[in-house]
Amino acid sequence: MHTPRNAKLSPASRLAHGGGGIDPATGAVVPPISTATTFARDEAYRLTSPTHLYSRDDNDLTRQIEALIADLEGGAEARLFASGMAAIAATARMVKPGQTILMQSGIYWGTTLWMRKHCQHMGIALIEANAADGTRFCETLRECGPALVFLEVPSNPFLEVADVRAISEAAHDCDAVVAVDATAATPLLMRPLELGADLVVHSATKALNGHSDVLAGIVSCRDADSDAWRFLREERHDAGAVLSSFDAYLLLRGLRTLSLRMERMCANAQAVATALEAHPAIETVLYPGLVSHAAHEAARRQMNGGFGYMMSVLVKGTAADALAVAGRLSLIKRATSLGGVESLVEHRYTIEGEASGIPVNLLRLSIGIESAEDLIADLTAALDPLIHRA
Ligand code: PLP
Repeated sequence: MHTPRNAKLSPASRLAHGGGGIDPATGAVVPPISTATTFARDEAYRLTSPTHLYSRDDNDLTRQIEALIADLEGGAEARLFASGMAAIAATARMVKPGQTILMQSGIYWGTTLWMRKHCQHMGIALIEANAADGTRFCETLRECGPALVFLEVPSNPFLEVADVRAISEAAHDCDAVVAVDATAATPLLMRPLELGADLVVHSATKALNGHSDVLAGIVSCRDADSDAWRFLREERHDAGAVLSSFDAYLLLRGLRTLSLRMERMCANAQAVATALEAHPAIETVLYPGLVSHAAHEAARRQMNGGFGYMMSVLVKGTAADALAVAGRLSLIKRATSLGGVESLVEHRYTIEGEASGIPVNLLRLSIGIESAEDLIADLTAALDPLIHRA
């Protein structure tokens, strides 16, 4: 494929072309799906193509997506994984028994649970600390001297925005690697590598793909010669948690419209958050785009072009009240996950249970590309009965 001549093209233009160009052999404007797992050698046992040996690593669609995402992140290289969790697990596996991981608390429950199990199994010390208070977090960091600091920015479901720059500086003083899960931001809103992080992880299942039909994950690095990246590159190759060609094709197709989707989703989320904040049945709206949110200033410093598509609301009332609100929604669908074109609601307490400490009245919303008026009308109709009850 020809790459576009102008290396300074905006992210929107790079995305629209899927990071590629016209195939010089056929004129095809989209790349083909190659299903070959293996590639033939000639009589002298030379590879027909030096970059095609076995498809666990040698998949052109995968390479095209990796180059596109690394470029958007301002990074050196990227590697796709079979899911966001596969990407996170590969990152955490660089830490050896006897070492420490410092992980932000109150992040995606799946990450928290996996990290706890993994660290216990491997004899790794896991410290969970609140990153909303950056000064305290950096003190903990200096005290425990971790090999890896794992952040999620903005966090799911509390939408906290950790200070990536300050934490990265403190971490580098202790020779720790900093990995940031930036799933809720995408590289269009925040670029953690430019804030000092070493690795940035995404569940590409969410907004990067955007259509709730592919599981994928990706990790990008700032320094391709670092030990951390050498480990991750080998881990992806050797442990083999790769994406199929069909899924890679769908992901690249989704990525082509990422900038349009994010524009609409962020504008919708801001409008929905503003309307919900004024609703008498809502106790609190957690959305970084609201001045009332504790992380608003940090978000303004670190994010550009919007504050994301995810928010959480605390409904005035009990778990049953929150569930009843979710049950009355009609346009917004009751389902886990986020970042798709369709808006979703989730009662996280039902999923995580009491041990997680999640508020019983919290509903997490992933805002899609529908009309903001329709979304607000759906939410208002679901919330109104709470104010009208005796
Ligand atoms: N990171 C965050 C912030 C998530 O919300 C999720 C899933 O919801 C994941 C990682 C895991 O990604 P996947 O479901 O692609 O494994």
